[in-house]
Amino acid sequence: MPEVVLKGHDYKYAVSDVLRLFYGEANEKPEGISAGSDGTIIFSKYDGSGVCTESGDICRCFSYNESQEIPFIPKREVKRQLYSLLSEMTGITYPWGSLTGIRPTLIATECGYDPVKMSESYYSSFDKSKLACETALNENRMIDSIANNSYHIYLSVPVCPTLCDYCSFPTADHIRVKAVLDDYVCAIVAELKDFIIGNKSCIGSIYIGGGTPTVLNDRQFEFLLSSVNDLADISSVPEFTIEAGRPETITDSKILIMMKYGVSRVCVNPQTFNAVTLDRIGRKHTVKDIYDAYRRVRNGGFRSISMDLIAGLGDESKDDFLYSLTEMIGLRPENITVHSLSLKRSSMMKRKFSQDPIVNPVMDFKAGSGNIDGMLADSYKILALNDYKPYYMYRQKDTLGGNENTGFSLKDHECIYNCAMMGDRNTIVGFGAKAISKKIVMKDGKVLIERLQNPADVRMYITRSSDLINKKREFFYEPDRNI
Ligand code: SF4
Repeated sequence: MPEVVLKGHDYKYAVSDVLRLFYGEANEKPEGISAGSDGTIIFSKYDGSGVCTESGDICRCFSYNESQEIPFIPKREVKRQLYSLLSEMTGITYPWGSLTGIRPTLIATECGYDPVKMSESYYSSFDKSKLACETALNENRMIDSIANNSYHIYLSVPVCPTLCDYCSFPTADHIRVKAVLDDYVCAIVAELKDFIIGNKSCIGSIYIGGGTPTVLNDRQFEFLLSSVNDLADISSVPEFTIEAGRPETITDSKILIMMKYGVSRVCVNPQTFNAVTLDRIGRKHTVKDIYDAYRRVRNGGFRSISMDLIAGLGDESKDDFLYSLTEMIGLRPENITVHSLSLKRSSMMKRKFSQDPIVNPVMDFKAGSGNIDGMLADSYKILALNDYKPYYMYRQKDTLGGNENTGFSLKDHECIYNCAMMGDRNTIVGFGAKAISKKIVMKDGKVLIERLQNPADVRMYITRSSDLINKKREFFYEPDRNI
């Protein structure tokens, strides 16, 4: 890895993002970014003279034309030019080019939904740009249809029956927190109750996610759902989702409780239909459990069912992955989200990788036979042939091959909550451990987003319950309490 010396600017995070793409994790140093012995790149801000006078092994002045059609954002330009240089040096290209941010659809919108312009501007492949443009059109249509004055509720139950190998969420193993879950549901209901009185109207959607909320016992689960139902006046809320991610937690009694309290959308997330992979990633359920859970949820008459798949799990080949997709489509859930495996530092899988002499799993995977690009490309074609349209998209760091996560929907079943999360117009109010609230503020004609995060640890959340309620009151407009 070369040393990159920044001169005349301090866009070290932008530089670090691009270096990470080509060389894995970069060390950040105050004077620049340095990690190795492959020469020095002097990366200077253009001084206006038209001549870059720096000297070094490789010297690049980044410059820009303020009148360019696409909005000029300096850090994006830094990334663009460094990407181009490193791509030239290494011969490596990435499907999203110099775009390292989490929202490709924002860029697609700025490019006027023109994939050619997007590809030419940011070196993203034409296929990715086209997908981003199509998704952006659908996403923006959905965001436009959500009332600006609505707010959206997220209740977090960050507990799972066991932890998946690839999990990078701050999720607790059920065994470890089982003893405090009665207290946990009481604390989350108290937080919701304090907030919601006075803010009952304009709830655009409710999402109970995790973790796996269906890991709660029936009594806890019913207490949570009945409280939400009473407090939020659920009959007037357009969408109420439960993330029942792990099929083995979806019992008949849980389904009855969801039906009784007005749930309209249920997520059943198998991630794969291959038994060997399920075992490898630490899931303790069978493939049969997936079909059974799906059938029972379908019989419950919920408006929409959502299912997730992950490309790049275990040693899966493209055929393995497409087999799972075909099985999933055969069940006809209204929503399918295709994720690319993200190997965050905190996951067990990443720790296993780190014990190998592998410096950069992103590149290693790309060089190997996994072919995640091909898995995704083929899956998108198959989904399109089966009437699933992309309607939201985001990217995460440390994703294999630098790829994306894309949500698909059958007509008129797009998830309101997912779209509200993607847009910068709606307030999200989060309750429970690790929940994040997002408040939209207009200042000097600009949209600003302010965030408030609850502690991720379940026990700490319970202990700090009253303090967190007060913090939320302050965050959301004391004294008049309107959002
Ligand atoms: S189901 Fe999701 S949240 Fe739970 S352990 Fe697996 S990856 Fe983590």
